[in-house]
Amino acid sequence: MERSTIVRVHDGLHARPATRFVKLAKSFESDIELVKDDKSVSAKSSVKLMLLGVKENEEITVRATGADAIEAIEALIGYLENPRAGTEEESAGQTPRTDDRKIAGKRTGELASHGKLRGVAASEGVAIGPVYGFFPAEIKHENRPLAANEIADEVLRLKQAITTVQRRMDASLAETGLADSDRGIVAALKDIANDDELTGGAIAIVEGGVDAVSAVIGATSKIASDFATMDDPYLNARADDVNAVGRQICLALLGQEDVNLDAVAEGSILVADDIGAWDLARAPLKRIAGVICGHGGATSHVAIIARAHGIPAVLGLGRPVLDLKNAKTVALDGDSGEVFANPDAVVSSHFQAEIVKAEAEKRALTAYKDITPKRADGTVIEIAANIGSLEEIDAAKDAGAMGVGLFRTELLFMRHIHLPSEDLQAETYSSLAKAFAPFPVIVRTLDIGGDKPIAGVEFPDEENPFLGWRGIRMCLDRPDVFKPQLRALLRAAVHGNIKVMLPMISGVGEVQATRILIDECAKELAAEGRAFAHFDLGVMIETPAAVLVAPALAREVAFFSIGTNDLTQYIMAADRLNPVVAKLNDVTHPAVMAAIELTAKAGAEAGIMVGMCGEAAGRPDLIPAFIAMGLTELSMSPSSIQRAKKCVLDGFKTAQEVGL
Ligand code: PEP
Ligand code: MG
Repeated sequence: MERSTIVRVHDGLHARPATRFVKLAKSFESDIELVKDDKSVSAKSSVKLMLLGVKENEEITVRATGADAIEAIEALIGYLENPRAGTEEESAGQTPRTDDRKIAGKRTGELASHGKLRGVAASEGVAIGPVYGFFPAEIKHENRPLAANEIADEVLRLKQAITTVQRRMDASLAETGLADSDRGIVAALKDIANDDELTGGAIAIVEGGVDAVSAVIGATSKIASDFATMDDPYLNARADDVNAVGRQICLALLGQEDVNLDAVAEGSILVADDIGAWDLARAPLKRIAGVICGHGGATSHVAIIARAHGIPAVLGLGRPVLDLKNAKTVALDGDSGEVFANPDAVVSSHFQAEIVKAEAEKRALTAYKDITPKRADGTVIEIAANIGSLEEIDAAKDAGAMGVGLFRTELLFMRHIHLPSEDLQAETYSSLAKAFAPFPVIVRTLDIGGDKPIAGVEFPDEENPFLGWRGIRMCLDRPDVFKPQLRALLRAAVHGNIKVMLPMISGVGEVQATRILIDECAKELAAEGRAFAHFDLGVMIETPAAVLVAPALAREVAFFSIGTNDLTQYIMAADRLNPVVAKLNDVTHPAVMAAIELTAKAGAEAGIMVGMCGEAAGRPDLIPAFIAMGLTELSMSPSSIQRAKKCVLDGFKTAQEVGL
């Protein structure tokens, strides 16, 4: 059987979304193919899948044959239709903002051009330091023809080398010191090392009578050149990953160790023609002040790792990088892409001054980490984190989050091919509550449908899914899905300060119906002798209806949290996923701001807390207006927290200065 859909995965099936897709496909017994135009490939090979070059908004068909074909198609189509699929840990990989780059571009513009090179600005910031060259020797073809009786042994040798590399990658993944973002990259490389396209391709060459090293070089360079010629810079960068994996297999075949980065001295600039993401992820990154590479671009994994660790990087320098091999000192500007070999005194002092300035800015912001912003009347303004998984707890706490203002439970449901059990949910919510106690953790009940379908709930075909069976509407119709979540939340509330909020509310009746279910769940748990505690119940304000009945809703609930992402799309009647109407999706439109103000007023009159968890909550240009409207909680991505705290405080200072 087969089903077609339009791919909504943000940016298409790139490395990580492709890897996750393959993992999901492999969990089914059926043979599964993905068909695009007239080309079909196995959905169980991430290399093949990436080479198919599936982009966002393209039509794709999933074809499955086997006992679990129906379930497979349902799960895979659900994945393809989910814009966030496979991208939840990608935030570290964002490119620097254009305006930042423009400002920084001027920074070194007037400096002398002596020894100046230019590459791709891949990770923001400036650095200067001694060169640490990483130029491992090239591995050459052995070009050793095999006699017929040598072939079986050579295949075995190759298989052993592949296993060695996979084990090394597993060992890297098991290391506790590896950052989460790097773990994802190593896992993607391991997937390449596991992929039949590469291993099967190399084995087939050996079976044709060629030595294993030459076979691996042949197979990897074929796949790498396929990636290199694709019409997508992100996929072009995957060529480097394939080459890096091939190199590791060859080294294992030759019994050689690669040049290793363990000896990098503190403050060095790593200079390489090409460096594998795996090598970089394993390197002592804290000691590396900057990275310069002949290969790569802003979307290569090396750039993603550098950005995740705040290391300035210039990539794609080309052959001139070889000139840097013998330089003693090098300076780089990761915002403009400029590199200076053996910089003179003027350039050096300019860079030193820029480094001091950047460090001061970063340090200044960390001073806000533990600040508790308070209004003059003593009311605390909570700056909380939006998260979707337990893996994000550390980043949120490190940033100084005063609890969680939105825990999106959808991810927990999307990660599994079946509905997560009540026990698994209770465990997850309890861990979250414990991690942030005594701060509150606001868990949003399942908000699927619209842009977020999941496996395990059959959604009808809808003309307008955003106006359809999503969020609370679906949950109230499916107590078999909703009640286990409510029971899990009641159980978790014993372990910390759990609050629960309902998405997509459009009237008081939905809150009352939910309360009946909560009471039922509490009675059941009491009868079963299980520990539980009651929680505050709140609602998201994200439909125009909710804004207009906010005074009535405020009498029913303990808090409001304004979901500006949906509120804007519904107020403006502009689909939040449709780029054609992106201009209308503007939270600063007077209609949306008026809706926010009405909500805040209704909340204040009823004496309940009003917060915000849509993207707008982290915008420094809007925070003062939200605070002035009376919002006392703003929840945002962890990376925005310190800046938001500063902004709230600065706003208060300004208000005091003008006598408010
Ligand atoms: C919102 O709509 O503003 C919101 C926070 O929810 P989501 O983005 O998950 O729909
Ligand atoms: Mg929403």
